[in-house]
Amino acid sequence: MSYGKVEYDDNLDAFKCEICGKWFHSLSHHVHFIHGITINEYRKRFGLAKSTPLISYFERQKHREREIKKGTFRRLKSRPSFKKGDNTIQKYKRSAETLIYLKERFYKIAKNKKIDNKN
Ligand SMILES: [Zn+2]
Repeated sequence: MSYGKVEYDDNLDAFKCEICGKWFHSLSHHVHFIHGITINEYRKRFGLAKSTPLISYFERQKHREREIKKGTFRRLKSRPSFKKGDNTIQKYKRSAETLIYLKERFYKIAKNKKIDNKN
């Protein structure tokens, strides 16, 4: 292996783990559960770019089909978007829990400001 490059086998459609030398469809799952490190730590250790794919084509296809079945793309489209100066978003109803949280947070900030002013 050369630093900054991951070994990929076309026939296996798998990536080589540089820690144990075995081949896997998904390196992120493998390094997390077997070696106990995150995929970001693995990337750092072997100089891999964040954009380097570490999931096989087969696995990506499986993920894609599952998300299309679940309709994730529809939920992403329906999410309200925020724009600077747009106040319409405040018209959404907030739950009682959220209102209590916001009230407590407001008083905490106000209290801290008073303490700051005394100093
Ligand atoms: Zn390994």
